[in-house]
Amino acid sequence: METASKLAIETDMIDKYIEINFRKTYEHSAIGASIVSLEGKWLDVNNSLTNILGYAKEELLEIDFQTVTHPEDLEKDLKLVKKLLKNELQSYEMEKRYIHKNGHIVWALLNVSLIRDSDNNPLYFISQVQDITKWKEKEFELRDAIEHKNLLNDQLRNTNEEIEKIVRERTSDFQNAIEALRVEIENRKKYQSELEESEQKFLDLYDNAPDMYISVDSNTAKILQCNQTLASNLGYSKEEITGMDLFHIYHPDCHGDVEEGFRHFRTFGEVKDKELQLKRKDGSRIDVSLNTSAVRSESGEIIRSRSNLRDISRQKELEKKLQQTIDSLSKKSSFEKVIRVISQSVHNSLNPIEVLENTVQSLIDNIGGIASSCVYIAENDTAYLKAHRGLTKAYIERAKSIPKPKGFTWKTISENTPVYCPDIEKDDTIGPAGRELGSKSYLSMPINIDGKAIGALILLSFKKDAFDEEYISYMDIVTQQIEVAFGNANKAKALADSESRLKSLNDALENKVRERTQELTHYTEELKNSNRELEQFAYVASHDLQEPLRKVKSFTELFAKKYRGSLDEKADQYIEFIVDGSSRMQKLITDLLEYSRVGRQKKEVEKINLEETVQRAISSLEVIIKESNAKIEYKDMATVLMNENDAYRVFLNLINNAIKFKNCDIDPLVKIESGEKDGMNIISVSDNGIGIEEKHLNKIFGIFERVHTKTEYQGTGIGLAICKKIIETYGGRIWVESELGKGTSFYFSIPVSQNPEDKPDAV
Ligand code: ADP
Repeated sequence: METASKLAIETDMIDKYIEINFRKTYEHSAIGASIVSLEGKWLDVNNSLTNILGYAKEELLEIDFQTVTHPEDLEKDLKLVKKLLKNELQSYEMEKRYIHKNGHIVWALLNVSLIRDSDNNPLYFISQVQDITKWKEKEFELRDAIEHKNLLNDQLRNTNEEIEKIVRERTSDFQNAIEALRVEIENRKKYQSELEESEQKFLDLYDNAPDMYISVDSNTAKILQCNQTLASNLGYSKEEITGMDLFHIYHPDCHGDVEEGFRHFRTFGEVKDKELQLKRKDGSRIDVSLNTSAVRSESGEIIRSRSNLRDISRQKELEKKLQQTIDSLSKKSSFEKVIRVISQSVHNSLNPIEVLENTVQSLIDNIGGIASSCVYIAENDTAYLKAHRGLTKAYIERAKSIPKPKGFTWKTISENTPVYCPDIEKDDTIGPAGRELGSKSYLSMPINIDGKAIGALILLSFKKDAFDEEYISYMDIVTQQIEVAFGNANKAKALADSESRLKSLNDALENKVRERTQELTHYTEELKNSNRELEQFAYVASHDLQEPLRKVKSFTELFAKKYRGSLDEKADQYIEFIVDGSSRMQKLITDLLEYSRVGRQKKEVEKINLEETVQRAISSLEVIIKESNAKIEYKDMATVLMNENDAYRVFLNLINNAIKFKNCDIDPLVKIESGEKDGMNIISVSDNGIGIEEKHLNKIFGIFERVHTKTEYQGTGIGLAICKKIIETYGGRIWVESELGKGTSFYFSIPVSQNPEDKPDAV
């Protein structure tokens, strides 16, 4: 509604304006005129504008100027409108494009002013639009024409510049050409002098080159030209050589080759690496290598040769030396092979004939130039052919044995020295059979054992002078090998003889040992039987004697009780002797019985701790320990597999003895210890007593064996024998160490048993 009333006011005002001032002019103006709202809407348009834009007036009043403005000009137009509104401009003018209703572009000169009210508030725009399309087109055409003209001008300018450039370049080329010509002329001059210099150099090079140069007429074989080197080498002047026949400078020995080479050159126009010999003026030779090429006429015909001759004398000399070295090396290696084969044969065989066979074979196989090889061995006054290769049947038939002193074989053996004949024709030592072989030279080497030749190794060759010093030294080694083979065979025989002697001695010894062993087994068996019988007897005797002895003892005691003091003094003394004797006899018999009982009965064996056993023995000996003020020390006692009673008896005896045989000056000290060595428990009982003399140490373990008298120390001499018997039944051992006056140590061993189940047989 607000817009409607505003529009009404605006319309009203326009009407007034139009009416008052411009209506007529406005309507009939040739220029398009319009009144445009602040937003750009056409409020009124005149006829010209409708014509310019192609729209009817009503159509235009429906749209705004933006709609028909060319999009590319709209921004500029709107910017200027803004400036008007901001009062920065009073009016503006611009060339712009409208889009005609038909779609074509209409160029226009637009003039816009802003009408404001009395308070300076903007009311509307008045615009004038002048169609300038035609002018514009003209302007564009003109601009194109100008541009075209400018283009042409540019092109013209460029062409001019190019022409100028070309002229400039041409001028400079021309100048360069003149300069190049000048340089060329100067260079030519320089080349000319260099050429002359180089020719001089070339001539110098040609004449003084290390190689020899020669040119020969291909038709006449006459020398056309040569260098100074050739002339000097041959001892002529260049002038002397020029015109000489080609063959004249070659050694007659190679004229055939020269001829053949010249023919080849004339046919093929070249000769390559041909080895020839030049002949010096003094007749000596120079080895040369020839290379030739042809100089041809325009028609291709060979006119003359161009040859290079290189002195290869030094090379030839070296080649010769090399060949000699190779020959010597191959000889060395061949002989080494032979020596290897023989030494292997010597190593493998004790049969010298086999070694001889291998030797002659290997010599023929490996040493070049040997026709035959053989070995003679002397027995008494005849040399026998033992091995041979390459000999004729006839020779073998005639010379299989050679009686002393025939031929070089016997010369070698008798003089024990190598015999070498370089030329058999001049030899008078060789026998007829050897001569018939047709050999030209021979070498015969002595085979000696202990400084005496026992035979000869012979080499024959169809070549004269086939064997030199080197052969002799190698053959010396070969014969030494053969000597070793004979030596080995002798040693082997001697060894075999001594071995067989040794064997018969051994056999005799073995027989004796066997006989002795049988005897010993027999005696041992007898001894065992007798021991068994003896033990049986001792047991039976001691057992059976007990009863009558008890009777004798008790009646003797009764007798003593009744008649002691009633007879004379002598009788009393006898009575005492009888009583004492019978008690002693009873003690002896009891001990003997105890001894013979050891090992007779089967007893239970168990794991026992010896500490407890020692304690038991000590308490049994309590009285004498107290009386003698003895001290007994023991610790870390072993656990062993034994019958406890047996162990007790051993300790009882040993501790009792240790106290009994005490030193008067000091209280007895007994130490009992236990240790382990080599799978055995070692138990020791040591004292500080009187000790035992060394000579008695072995005998005290015997039955009834005593060192001291019964008046000195009481006892029957059977305790240690019982200990020994007990210990041995367990597979152990008892021994003693003692120092007189200082003390004694008894040791016994009992096997360590790992497994408690592993019990020894009950004893
Ligand atoms: P007995 O003790 O009855 O004489 P033994 O067979 O036990 O018989 O001893 C044999 C002998 O060995 C003894 O008479 C004694 O001469 C000697 N003998 C044994 N043990 C000792 C010891 N500990 N010190 C010195 N001599 C000893």
